[in-house]
Amino acid sequence: MRTTVGIIGAGPAGLLLARLLHDAGIDSVVLESRDRAYVERRQRAGILEQGTVDVLRAAGAGERMDREGLRHDGIELRFAGRRHRVDFPGLTGGRSVMVYAQTEVCKDLIALQLEDGGPLLFEAEALAVEGAEGDRPSVRFRHEGREDVLTCDYVVGCDGFWGVARKAVPVGLSQV
Ligand SMILES: Cc1cc2nc3c(=O)[nH]c(=O)nc-3n(C[C@H](O)[C@H](O)[C@H](O)COP(=O)(O)OP(=O)(O)OC[C@H]3O[C@@H](n4cnc5c(N)ncnc54)[C@H](O)[C@@H]3O)c2cc1C
Repeated sequence: MRTTVGIIGAGPAGLLLARLLHDAGIDSVVLESRDRAYVERRQRAGILEQGTVDVLRAAGAGERMDREGLRHDGIELRFAGRRHRVDFPGLTGGRSVMVYAQTEVCKDLIALQLEDGGPLLFEAEALAVEGAEGDRPSVRFRHEGREDVLTCDYVVGCDGFWGVARKAVPVGLSQV
């Protein structure tokens, strides 16, 4: 299997990257170790900052967010018998946050990817990134009981802190 960008992990980072690459005409393959139902139900974030809202809209993934999400313009702190409003747009030149669950962001991005994006393989666990120092890195992965190799121009590790991609970054190039 061959692609330009091999993406490990179908969390919000991997899914959004796949969409942005698709929009730029660059092919990719996403490998996700869990099944679709698990990824779509994994509860995490609930608040999206303005930058995230903007990039989801620009990627064509903001339609349901804008319909069902709740724009949140501020908070009120109460102390010493008084109310103190913290007005997000007023203090930031119009920026606010959106209450829209990460599960829903993932559902929207998965639906778009499966509709017209590149391959998104669920239950495809990346086992190792090989050749990370060369110009043909590859990802060894297990899918449907078989081991396979995804050869890439670039490999992007969106598999979180504990994922396999982090371990493949050569010592000396790693920032942390
Ligand atoms: C309780 C909680 C509340 C949070 N609240 C907020 C919030 O309100 N606002 C906010 O902005 N952020 C919040 N966050 C942070 C936010 O959830 C993360 O920043 C976000 O999930 C990171 O996305 P990601 O795609 O980088 O990684 P992840 O979501 O961790 O996705 C990584 C993906 O890689 C897959 N994977 C791992 N290993 C492999 C492998 N070997 N092969 C293939 N796939 C693999 C995983 O199954 C997963 O799908 C919260 C986090 C938690 C835990």
